[in-house]
Amino acid sequence: MNLVKKFISFFFPSFCKICYKTLKDHEVLVCNLCYFKLPLLKNYCKRCGNINIQYEVNYCGNCVNNKLYFDKFWAGFKYEKPISDWILEAKFKKNFLLAYNLGKLLRKTIPLEGLLVDEVIPIPLSTGRCKERGYNQSFLIAYGLLGKKPKNNILERIKETKPQTELSYQERIENVKNSFKALKEKVEGKKILLVDDVMTTGATLKEASKALKEAGAKEVWVCVVAKT
Ligand SMILES: [Zn+2]
Ligand SMILES: [Zn+2]
Repeated sequence: MNLVKKFISFFFPSFCKICYKTLKDHEVLVCNLCYFKLPLLKNYCKRCGNINIQYEVNYCGNCVNNKLYFDKFWAGFKYEKPISDWILEAKFKKNFLLAYNLGKLLRKTIPLEGLLVDEVIPIPLSTGRCKERGYNQSFLIAYGLLGKKPKNNILERIKETKPQTELSYQERIENVKNSFKALKEKVEGKKILLVDDVMTTGATLKEASKALKEAGAKEVWVCVVAKT
């Protein structure tokens, strides 16, 4: 740890969000003991994200029946407290540092292999919503996950969409249909990791993956902080 970091952590220590103990350098948001109290997601399908299974599998029955467009999937946690509360705080209460730290925390949960890609791309917000909110939480999560600024100009929203939370499953699919466009020259032949905060039905991530594949991406992997 360099001197500046030492100085900052001496005067502005971080505390565990669960037990309020001072955090050590390598600990993120929670201490090592509380980390294991988090709703860590262990048994899920590494292809489609199905969590209704008993074991960790590389594909499942769901994958066969769905056209996914993405090739691999990782999630850190189940969408349960306290993770769900932290995601909402990062998203709606302008807690930028929390969004960044959720990305750092996510990094602890996924295999190193997950980051062996050519580009890491956060799911972009629609321009309207980005202006309204002032920031994109997925960008900050990807920043924390990667440890450096991800590129922001590879994938674009080309259609204003309604917030997915207000819609039924079928409406979600319609709502995001053809809403993304990817820059061919930036993705062609590349392995891409798409980052988002939460995956619910996966409609948004599927559409974004479709746009990347149509622009020539070789593989698209998906990584989210939490899966509902
Ligand atoms: Zn703790
Ligand atoms: Zn599956």
